[in-house]
Amino acid sequence: MQCDEVALLIPSSLDDDQPVPLPVQTHVESCLRCQAELARYKRMLRGLQLLRTQLLEPAPGLLGLTLSAIGDASEQHAIRSLLNKRKVAYVGAISGAVAAAGAAAAIIAVQRSRRRAAAALATT
Ligand SMILES: [Zn+2]
Repeated sequence: MQCDEVALLIPSSLDDDQPVPLPVQTHVESCLRCQAELARYKRMLRGLQLLRTQLLEPAPGLLGLTLSAIGDASEQHAIRSLLNKRKVAYVGAISGAVAAAGAAAAIIAVQRSRRRAAAALATT
């Protein structure tokens, strides 16, 4: 077995409370790298078990600071959202005004050309 293969099998063999497969056990007994990996993993499991039983008291004022930070973040998000909506409204209004001006210019141009044609016909 290779060290990489053993490293992948160590967690599952310890988590399941099953006996370590013989090839893994044989490799670990002869390999310092895998012995160190096994020791690190067991140490990590002990640390995690300690965390389950330890209750941490929050520092005084931590709840207030956390709620304040959440409030500030939500206010900033709301302001950014409002500014983005205003930008969309401005762009929509400007686009509408440009389209209306273009339509008016087209109507005026058509009316002028009709008048010129009518005047040209009247003079002939
Ligand atoms: Zn190894």
